[in-house]
Amino acid sequence: MSDVLARLRALQEGDLPTHGGSTLAYVYDSGLAEADEIGRTALAQYGATNGLDPTVFPSLRTLENDLVGWAARLLRGEAAVGTVTSGGTESVLLAVQAARDASPGITSPSMVLPSTAHAAFHKAAHYFGVRAIVVDVDPVTFTPRPEDVAAACDEATVLLVASAPSYAQGVVDPVPAIAAVAAERGVRCHVDACIGGWILPYLRLDGVEVPDFDFAVPGVTSISVDLHKYGYTPKGASILLHRDASLRRSQFFASADWPGYTMLNSTLQSTKSGAPVAAVWAVVHHIGDDGYQRLARTAYDAAVQLAGRIRTIDGLTVLADPATTLVALRSDERADVFTIADEMAALGWFVQPQLSFRGQPASLHLTVSAATAARMEELVKALESATRAAQLAGPVQVAPELAAAAGALDPSTLDDDAFDGLLSVAGLGDTATTGSLPDRMAPVNALLDVAPPRLREALLIAFLDRLMRPTWSAAGTDQHPLRRLVRRTAAC
Ligand SMILES: *Cc1c(COP(=O)(O)O)cnc(C)c1O
Repeated sequence: MSDVLARLRALQEGDLPTHGGSTLAYVYDSGLAEADEIGRTALAQYGATNGLDPTVFPSLRTLENDLVGWAARLLRGEAAVGTVTSGGTESVLLAVQAARDASPGITSPSMVLPSTAHAAFHKAAHYFGVRAIVVDVDPVTFTPRPEDVAAACDEATVLLVASAPSYAQGVVDPVPAIAAVAAERGVRCHVDACIGGWILPYLRLDGVEVPDFDFAVPGVTSISVDLHKYGYTPKGASILLHRDASLRRSQFFASADWPGYTMLNSTLQSTKSGAPVAAVWAVVHHIGDDGYQRLARTAYDAAVQLAGRIRTIDGLTVLADPATTLVALRSDERADVFTIADEMAALGWFVQPQLSFRGQPASLHLTVSAATAARMEELVKALESATRAAQLAGPVQVAPELAAAAGALDPSTLDDDAFDGLLSVAGLGDTATTGSLPDRMAPVNALLDVAPPRLREALLIAFLDRLMRPTWSAAGTDQHPLRRLVRRTAAC
């Protein structure tokens, strides 16, 4: 048994560090070792429980109602109800699904999204057949103009969306104006506060001027807030709140159309581990309001400081003043951001490339968590030296013929051989078979950057398809009876 755990630890050595503040996307580190320990213990304690039925594990219902109450208080929803989901995407999916199903008479429902809305809304559009009407944001503020949102609505619009803040640029949309448009039309307005919903209320408590974005704003009907981001909890938890119980009803699903137990679900999952709810509950109560207020202030001050320091680095600009804890930056023409990201990786820092989009150049995204604050000087020095190195190297050049060819390809006409060829050209051929990424991602990113969005998607799906292939790794595989059976079957 200790052997398999040792093997797990060895495997993990190839992963990005989840703690220490040097991974500036995907993970969130409070820097509080005791909170992490409590989360891990609660996960283990509840790993075998099932949240399928709130009457058989009553403790899970208690924990969930307590957490939803905490979130409703933070987000000022006096009559709010909610559900703990597996993550931000599930919260967003359910908000869209609930909006769609609250208007069953509308045959081709639509939702209006700022172009900065999280991709989870496009996933919801894809899964649930809700048309996404995208409104471009102002190129300077990165927020949508409310009049553009109003003009984009059609007769079948069931939902308007605003972010607090958006992931890519970290700015808060004009929620009161967008919610007013929704209220006037009698449709729902979802505020995606997945990444800011556990930060903004605590910043407000700490005296920071925070724009109104929550249920205090008339017309806001639902809010998503992730615990596995700035709640600093183990992964697998977000909350979807509705302003009142009547708005949540269409989110729930029951089926009596089979001979087993009548299925009754509040989320996309049916059997679901109780572990994330228990872990979140334990961590949230351990850190507490005072702890979160301090953590929010620490990460926010660090983000503001980081943005200020980036502005002093020759060649870099910050896209927007951080509204919370997110910083996005661009480089001038002397360097490309993809090379800066590679140089940062070589120095031990993970920053996230964001490809060019609807006329906006490529950028880097840095999610600052409390643990990063203690390493600010180191981070700024790394950015300075990575930028200098990238300027010396110059931007990655994509051959113009290649860029033109990429622009002309129709991904729907490509077969598997064509994708294999394209992945090799992109520098991902070996990764697809070995699973290890190239040392330098800049050439890959530069090529993806000139590909139109549909081709980017198709290429990455082909990549994922090749990456995720099962291994037959049981010890002594050849002697395994199942293996012999398979071989015999294949032979006949
Ligand atoms: C992270 C995020 C999501 C998606 O959440 P996941 O937990 O990754 O599924 C949605 N919206 C915003 C604004 C986010 O930051």
